[in-house]
Parts: sequence; structure tokens; C-alpha cells
Amino acid sequence: MKNTFCYVMLFLLGLTMMASCGEKSEHQATENVEQKQTTETVEEKQEDFRLPAFSIDGDGFDTVRYKDYVFISQPIPDAVKARMQGKSMPDNATIGFDELRYLTLYHYDYEGNIQQGEMVCNQVIAHDLLCIFRALFAEVYPIYSIRLVDDFDADDEASMQANNTSCFNYRTVVGSRRISKHAMGLAVDVNPLQNPCIKHGRVHPETAKEYIDRTQDFPHKIDRDDYCKKIFTSYGFSWGGGWAGSKDYQHFEKR
Ligand SMILES: [Zn+2]
Repeated sequence: MKNTFCYVMLFLLGLTMMASCGEKSEHQATENVEQKQTTETVEEKQEDFRLPAFSIDGDGFDTVRYKDYVFISQPIPDAVKARMQGKSMPDNATIGFDELRYLTLYHYDYEGNIQQGEMVCNQVIAHDLLCIFRALFAEVYPIYSIRLVDDFDADDEASMQANNTSCFNYRTVVGSRRISKHAMGLAVDVNPLQNPCIKHGRVHPETAKEYIDRTQDFPHKIDRDDYCKKIFTSYGFSWGGGWAGSKDYQHFEKR
């Protein structure tokens, strides 16, 4: 009887050990998978933006991926139209929402953190911009912010002073009555504070005076050898910094 008790105890002890070993090896396996995923995706721990909150299978959607990040072009959602109406899209605009696309983009900010950005552009350059911003992201090219100008009441000067990168804004060319390429959603301004527009002796934004001298070296300067300049021009965009006469270092447009 005593022996039987011992066998039962040994059997139970064996079961307990097997269960804990099983748990341990399973836990180790999970750790290994997690480590693998971390090194394969992004090295620093980042907020996870990677799952879009909407279907990407609808009509007019276009996507470009970099690792797990999905860059999306879609028709302007109603909520975005409401933000634009009376701001970047005034009542007298000669372009319609159906000619524009809403882009979800990712970029590294000046601190090296990954941020989700949004942009409105003409549908004819939407795919180019997905590819261009994907390339900039892959290159860890710093962009201060990418927000709609409507967050600045469509005030171009305010958006530029905030160093915001943007595209569509139904407005005239700065200092003229001519309709801008931005009004057609065919031009993008990148990091405008360090890359101002210099025209007729005036600087836009007016807070960018320290960045007028392009012979000086400073971070986020777009020049002839800059990666952003190279990638935009490789997609057939013209760079405002290369124009004769007035210079617009932030500006890329497709004719
Ligand atoms: Zn511009």
C-alpha cells in the first residue's frame, strides 16, 4: 500500500514537471518569434500604424507597401471633404473632388520617429507620390510633418512656418493672381522652413531668412544632390530650386 502511494506521488510529480517544461518551451518559442519579428520590421520600437482601419479593396484604391507599412491612395473620404470644404477647396474651385486622391503616407520626423501623414493630390500623380514617399521612407529621409493645409485653415504661410509638407491647396501663386500648380494638386512642398521660396526679394515663409544662403551647410537643406530632389525628378517632377530667376527650394511639380 505504501509503495502504491509512492508510485502515485511520483506519477503526479512527473505530470507536473512535464506540464511546466511544456509551458517553458512554448514560452521560449514565442520569445524567439517576437525577436525575429522585431529585427525584421523596424529596429526601434514604434507605435503600430500598420493596419489600416478601413478596407483597401474598394474602387479607386491603390496601395504600395514597404515592409508592413501600406501607403494608400483612395478617393477623398466624406470626412476629409468636410475638412477641405471652404478651406483648401473653396466654392469657386475649378477642380472637383473626383479629380483628387487622399493619400496615407509614412515618414520619419526630425527626431527619427515614424509618423503617419496625410496628403491630398491630383489623381494623375497619386501613384507617383505613393512610390516617392515610399522611397523616402525606405531611405529614412526626415520630413518634419505631412498634414493637410486645412489644419492651418488653408493658410499657406502658416503651413510653411509650421514646416509642413503638403500638396493640394486651391490658391494662387504666391505674389500673383495666377492659379498655382498646388490648386490642381500637381505640386508638393517639402520641409518648407529650411527650403523657402525666394521671389522678388521676398522670402516665403518669412520666418525662413536664416536659410536663404544656400552656400551654407545645414540639416534638411534640399539641394541638387539631395535624395528627395533626385527621387522627385526621377519621376518627372520639376524642382523649383533649379529654376532660373525665382527659387522655390521646397517645390516639386509635374507639368
Ligand atoms: Zn510649392
